[in-house]
Amino acid sequence: MASRWLQPEALVWGGRLQRGVALAIAADGTCESAGQPPPDATVERLAGKLLLPGLVNAHSHAFQRLLRGRTQAPAPGRPQDDFWTWRETMYRAAAALDPEGVAVASRQCFLEMALAGITTVGEFHYLHHTPDGRPYDDPLELALRVVSAARDVGLRIHLLRVGYARSGFGAAPEPRQRRFYDPDPDTFLASVSALEQRFRPDPLVTVGAAPHSVRAVPRPWLEAVARARPGTVHMHVAEQPREVESCLAEHGRRPVELLDELGLLDARFTAVHAVHLAPHEIPLLGRSSICACPLTERDLGDGILPADGLATAGATLCIGTDGQSEIDPLGELRALEGHLRLQRGRRLVLPPTGEGLDGLARTLLEVGTRGGGRSLGLDVGRLAPGRPADLCAVDLTHSALAGAPEDGLLAAVVFSAPAAAVTDTWVQGQRVVQDGHHPHAEAAARDFRALCRRTFA
Ligand SMILES: [Zn+2]
Repeated sequence: MASRWLQPEALVWGGRLQRGVALAIAADGTCESAGQPPPDATVERLAGKLLLPGLVNAHSHAFQRLLRGRTQAPAPGRPQDDFWTWRETMYRAAAALDPEGVAVASRQCFLEMALAGITTVGEFHYLHHTPDGRPYDDPLELALRVVSAARDVGLRIHLLRVGYARSGFGAAPEPRQRRFYDPDPDTFLASVSALEQRFRPDPLVTVGAAPHSVRAVPRPWLEAVARARPGTVHMHVAEQPREVESCLAEHGRRPVELLDELGLLDARFTAVHAVHLAPHEIPLLGRSSICACPLTERDLGDGILPADGLATAGATLCIGTDGQSEIDPLGELRALEGHLRLQRGRRLVLPPTGEGLDGLARTLLEVGTRGGGRSLGLDVGRLAPGRPADLCAVDLTHSALAGAPEDGLLAAVVFSAPAAAVTDTWVQGQRVVQDGHHPHAEAAARDFRALCRRTFA
């Protein structure tokens, strides 16, 4: 099979940084080998660039890209409720979007992800119906729009179809959540299966199930998910203290205790956030994935993930851009460690991978790549023979990286490179971003600005 070669200054291959080594990509878009290209090979030189596995964003709500800059002040008359402005603005955006609006917001968001080095997105999709809560003529309409937006941009997508039953335990129905609701768990799980069928022809699209949270679904829904055993199950877990309190009131158990009792906490399960854990809940999550969204958790004041305890317990850590207040996967990784430093009053909290300056950066890079792949049930996040050539390149000549030590290059990139230092992205061997430019960027931004004006007029 014909292969072509990428020749960067340095390459992360099999989890290790190597210099002077080129990557061979097979015609089917998988990695073939790393080494020296033969004399007659087709070689693309990436001078001054570091080639890495593409970053995996395991938790996104793409349409929330609309909220940026619109939630950083208290709502009139509600100075005590700092969450109110965010939630009201989110409902306003969610209520206003027609299918084209969903497509436009998603395209802008996914495009920004590609520019930041993200090659796979796990989209936690909860906008399903018309604004008055009826299904569209094609009940999968909005999910199809989101997936098309990701594929137009060039990303690999794992669509996590959300199940949502109620506004909370004992709470009155919230009319503005009508677009999210399914009548029963069988309808929810049937939609997951229908989406799987619909996308099966595209190997870059996969589907999982996402019961929204213990707040939004009652016990019978969780029991139905446990029986159905979907390939991936994602759920918001213990994001805020109020969620833990209402779970105790409804079930007499904390969220993680409840999920453990229901048999959901296996390798297919990802707990998103998991910020408010009791010490005995940490080992219960040891077989599962934990998706940290530290930049969103910081924006919302959620709290700090006990990532070191979870890693010690064996959990797989990954990252998500969640509310899109920033789309900066390297920033998410350094915040995961940085928040722990602020909390513990010391440095170097997460365990390093190997000795030397790059040890902790290797751990974090693994979180941002392979950890996300595991969470989404995908064979992505590590460059090795036969694995997808999902790649990103960092410009080592960027001013932020001037003077980086030879043996601390990954540390300089992970701890100090801005998202703009990422210059190129490939998905399944296909170029998505080249030298900081995506071919749809101008059109996507123009459409998105118009959508913002319409939505918040
Ligand atoms: Zn979320």
